[in-house]
Parts: sequence; structure tokens; C-alpha cells
Amino acid sequence: MKANCWEGVKKLRVETVPDPQLLSSHDAIVRVTSTAICGSDLHLYNGFVPSMEKGDVLGHEFMGEVVEVGADVRKLKIGDRVVVPFPIACGVCAMCLDGLFACCENSNPNAWMAAKLWGHSPAGLFGYSHLLGGFAGGQAELVRVPFADIGPIKVPQGLTDEQVLFLSDIFPTGYMGAEMCDIKPGQVVAVWGAGPVGQLAIASARLLGAERVIAIDRFAYRLELAAAKAGATDTINYEDESVFEALKDLTAGRGPDACIDAVGLEAHGPAPVYAYDRAKQALMLETDRPIALREAILACRNGGTVSVIGVYGGFLDKFPMGAIVNRGLTLRSGQCHVQRYSARLLAHIERGDIDPSFVITHWLPLEEAPQAFEMFLHKRDNCEKVVLRT
Ligand code: NAD
Ligand code: ZN
Ligand code: ZN
Repeated sequence: MKANCWEGVKKLRVETVPDPQLLSSHDAIVRVTSTAICGSDLHLYNGFVPSMEKGDVLGHEFMGEVVEVGADVRKLKIGDRVVVPFPIACGVCAMCLDGLFACCENSNPNAWMAAKLWGHSPAGLFGYSHLLGGFAGGQAELVRVPFADIGPIKVPQGLTDEQVLFLSDIFPTGYMGAEMCDIKPGQVVAVWGAGPVGQLAIASARLLGAERVIAIDRFAYRLELAAAKAGATDTINYEDESVFEALKDLTAGRGPDACIDAVGLEAHGPAPVYAYDRAKQALMLETDRPIALREAILACRNGGTVSVIGVYGGFLDKFPMGAIVNRGLTLRSGQCHVQRYSARLLAHIERGDIDPSFVITHWLPLEEAPQAFEMFLHKRDNCEKVVLRT
């Protein structure tokens, strides 16, 4: 089969690799019809995630048709059309039973590696380094899906790939980002990052009742999309004005009730701050650039919530813990527990409350994955989200 393989930092190649095989009686094989590129893939592309190996197949947002099932798979049959959540979860461990699917205790065969870095291991993820299991990803013609009865969501007839594909990751991720804010009617939520994850966090904050949602980014086309399609009531371009001051102006001096970081470890920022974090990162004195996160913490109102769905990998510098403690902030975070949200969000799509496909700007064949990564990384051609077709 053909697959998009990581060959080194900023080096990808679509190669012919062996077809996946069933390794357990609980596995299924899915023939991919649509797969997307995520901001999280950029962290792998740019070399910020350790333990990538030459030839690793990327991709954790995918859907397709079941073509093979193991003997113990009960819920899926050959021919079913499914969307697959990016965290691999067993469904029966203590974490899974508690709905914390992205913290599954059984799905990462390399748990010792992750535990060395983070204390304990989270779930294995598709196409996301050996630290997180070394599972081949979904930017490929075929994928092996472990624990096939737990993750895959059967797609009801009449829904297109575009409408449901993002149930694999960015819709539930944006939704969880908003849900962690415990939004009450009348509240104001600010969202850093108007990438696909930020857009769906904005849309979800509106679904959950936020009165005002403020989008923050530096790309005008992304801020325009946030206002036109996601439901942002205000936008701030951080290259044109001080985010902190603008947020004070918009909230009578108090700050937003909740702040969502949908940027993560590769944040940009005003020149001196960016130069500081970029230099420390290059010298390996910090692993991540927490520019948006620091700003979100400082801007949040007293007693408010900072919800972090942007991905961080390691250690941060100048982290304003004093603001968190002294102003009674709540910090919440996580890789998305996708399986927890599948039914609820599919129902929203079926009812027409939301159509997450509004983020798609480019459709390309899988063969063009390397060019698509380049375009998405540099936000060329007003790229918001790329879907690859096999
Ligand atoms: P993206 O690269 O398209 O979007 C990131 C956006 O952040 C860009 O538009 C960029 O201009 C903006 N940005 C950079 N610095 C900023 C700053 N200082 N202030 C405001 N905006 C800034 O990526 P995406 O696909 O939207 O993903 C966003 C993040 O979400 C990534 O870190 C990704 O790894 C993470 N993610 C997390 C989960 C999860 O489960 N928690 C799931 C999917 C993606
Ligand atoms: Zn993703
Ligand atoms: Zn589990």
C-alpha cells in the first residue's frame, strides 16, 4: 500500500510499504477514504517529538471502510464505514472506564518510554512516535485499528466524509477545550489560535452557551473564517495590537472568564518574546515555546479557567505559576478523550447544529502529502485544513 512516511525532520515521502496485518483478534483493518493533516503532525514534521524513526507512517485523523475484522470483534463488520478516534483505547482499564480514553493504561506497548519523560504513560496514538506506541498512522491506504470495538464510530447513511472526518480528532478536541471552561450563560471565552482546532473550540464554546468568543491569531484569513463561520464575536490580530490590552478593553478591564490555548508548543509571538523562546529551544534549555499559554494565563480573569488543548511536549520556561495560585485560576488540559464525545458530537452533526467541514480549504491526493505539509506549515494559499484522499 501507499503511505506518507516520516523520513527525518521536514522530510516526508509517500512510499510503498507492506499492507497491515491483523495482530490481535480484536483488531480491524480499515481502508482509508479520507485523512487529514493536523497541527499535531507539524510537531512531528518539525522534529519536536522524540522517538520518531525513518519510515514511520504518519496520520491520526482518518476514516474509511472496514475490510477485515479479527475473530473477537463484535461491533464492526466488513463493509462498515467508520471514523477512527486518534487515541487508541482498550475500553476496560480504570482510565477508560472513567472516560479518560487518552490516558488508557493498556494501549501503549512502549509505556516505559513515555513514563520516563512524563512520569506515567498515556494511551498509544496512531502515527505519533514510538514513545506513544509506534502505531502506523492513517495517512495511508490501509490502517490496522487495535481495540476495534472501542474506538471506531459507524457513520450513518447520508453523511459525507467531510462532515464526519473531524470526529477523529479536532471536533472533539475543540469541544473538550470549551467543555473544560465550564461555560455559563453570558460568559466571555478567548481562544488563542485560529487553526482548525481553535475554530472548532470557538464553535463549541458557542454551542455550549458562551455569549462572546474572541479569536486571537496573526493570520487575517483565519480570523475572518473564525468570525464568518465558527461564530467568533470579536477577533484580535496579535501583530496589530496588544492582546492583553485588547482583552481588557473587551471585558470592562476584568479579562475573559475562560481562556483556551489552541496553539501549543510552536507558538509565535512579538519579536523579542519569540526570539527569547526560540533561542532557549534551540539551545535545549526549554523544549516548548509557551508564548500563547503565558498570555492566556495572564489575561484570564481572577478565578477563571485556562483550558490547554494546544499540545506541549516537555518543559516550559517563565511559566507564570504565581498568577495561577494568587489569582485562583484553574488550569485544565489533555489530549482529547475522543471516544467520550463521539455519540454526542455525531448527534450535533446529524441535527445540523454544526458542520465541522467549514475548516477545509484544500483537498489533495495522498501522493501529494509532502507538498501539503509544506503548505500547511507555512499557511500558504490561505491554507486552514488539508484533507488527503486515497
Ligand atoms: P495550526 O498550526 O493550524 O494552528 C495554530 C495557530 O496558532 C496558527 O494559526 C498560528 O498562527 C496560531 N498562533 C501561533 N502563535 C500564536 C500566539 N502567540 N497567539 C495566538 N495564536 C498563535 O494547528 P491546529 O491543527 O489548529 O492545532 C493547534 C494545536 O492543537 C497544536 O498544538 C496541536 O498539536 C493541538 N492539538 C491538540 C489535540 C489534543 O487532543 N489536545 C488534538 C489536536 C491538535
Ligand atoms: Zn490531530
Ligand atoms: Zn484502557
